[in-house]
This record gives sequence, C-alpha cells and structure tokens, in this order.
Amino acid sequence: NGQSELLRKRLDIIVKGNDIPAPISSFSSCGLPEKLLHNLESAGFDMPTPVQMQAIPAAMSRKSLLVSADTGSGKTASFLVPIIFHCTEASFSKSSRLRKPQAIVLVPTRELCSQVEEQAKLLGKGMPFKTALVVGGDAMTSQLYRIQQGVELIVATPGRLIDLLTKHEIEMDDVRILVLDEVDCMLQKGFRDQVMQIFTALSQPQLLMYSATTAGDVEKMASMMDQGISYVSVGRPNR
Ligand code: ADP
Ligand code: MG
Repeated sequence: NGQSELLRKRLDIIVKGNDIPAPISSFSSCGLPEKLLHNLESAGFDMPTPVQMQAIPAAMSRKSLLVSADTGSGKTASFLVPIIFHCTEASFSKSSRLRKPQAIVLVPTRELCSQVEEQAKLLGKGMPFKTALVVGGDAMTSQLYRIQQGVELIVATPGRLIDLLTKHEIEMDDVRILVLDEVDCMLQKGFRDQVMQIFTALSQPQLLMYSATTAGDVEKMASMMDQGISYVSVGRPNR
C-alpha cells in the first residue's frame, strides 16, 4: 500500500515481485519469539537496518529473494533471523525426533563461514538451534559427527559440502532454506557449478541470495534457479 511505498522510498529500498510484505520498523513487530528478540538486544541490535527491515519480513513469508545491499549493511542477520524463526518453530513440534538440517548457508570463504556461524550462535543462544561448520582445513569426520548429533543450520563453503555429501550419507530432505551469501563473489570464484549441484540436491528450497553488487550474471542465475524470485535492493547498488 501507499504507506509501505513511502517507507521504502525513505529507506532507499526498491522491491520487485508480488506481495512483498511491508518493511518492519522494529524487530518486535513481526512475530519473532521473545528469546530471539532478547538475543538481538543483547547483541546490540536495537533497530533493524534498512536491509533487515525489508528482507526479514519478506524471507519470513517464505519468498525466494535476491537481495543486494552494500557491505556492512547488516545482510547476515537479515537471513539468520528468518532462519532461526523457521528452524525453532519447526523443531518445537518435533523435539522428540533427532533434528535434521533445515537450512544451509553457503559462503565463498572459510573466514566468512566462521563469522556467519558465530552470529548464528549469538542470535540463536538458548533456543533449540544448533549449527555446524563445513569448511576445508578441519577434519571432515568431526564435522560429520556434529551434523549427525542433530543440527538445524549448516554453514558451508560449496566445495567442502559437496565432498561431505558425496562421501557420506547426510539427510537433507528437511532443508527448506538455502542461502547463497556473497553470491557475486561465489560466481567470481567459479563456484557456480558446485552451488547448482547443491541446489538441485535439495527439494525446492526457499532461495535467499545475497550480493553486494547487482552483477548481471547474478540476476540471470537467480531467475534461472527460481522463476518466482523477488528482488530487494537497498541503497546504491541498483542505481
Ligand atoms: P554485510 O553482510 O551486509 O556486509 P554484516 O551482516 O556483516 O553486513 O553486518 C555488519 C556489522 O553490522 C556487523 O558488525 C553486525 O554485527 C552489525 N549489525 C548488523 N545489524 C545490526 C543492527 N540491526 N544494529 C546494530 N548493528 C548491526
Ligand atoms: Mg555479508
């Protein structure tokens, strides 16, 4: 409606797609559990950043998204908050069963992997939400063991995750969200085929793609992977 259009204009947000929810003005206005709100506050996240205002409600509504926003704009929490929301919602209802991964975040580098996992642990603290890192350099057996003990989120580099999936049996049938963080960088690094291999091994997950630039090859990949994908751009990258 007109009000959310005004808010988007003021926040420098452009959206493309059907039925994209209005931006939220606070973390507490979109039905997040108390514990998660508490963790956001403890992390010093008093107010959502513009990309979080728009991407959090859009991702919570299960839309596939290509989000472009500058480095440092808070993209990490904009996908972790909806992931923690969905994962903890689901695991409450089947707490007696062993938990299987429900979300995968793919990132281009090991360093980024640990940063994303660290923020996931911080925001998911005290909730039924466990994470596993799947990166090169560490023993694959210990990464595998952790996953088998029950985790909701896997944060991985594409190459190592494919190694793990081809050598071991990991149940991926509960994975409902796939995040491609810094997808522009992943394409530059030549991860395209590996990302596609992981994507096609999943059963039509919600796709959340994040980029700091609006490179044409990223948009092409997005529309090819999910024809119904919506677009959110914040700030300058799209101008
Ligand atoms: P991006 O992925 O867009 O480059 P990050 O998610 O890494 O950005 O966030 C950049 C910095 O901003 C991080 O240090 C993060 O902790 C901080 N941050 C993110 N969201 C908020 C918020 N709502 N309030 C305060 N700080 C935030
Ligand atoms: Mg980032």
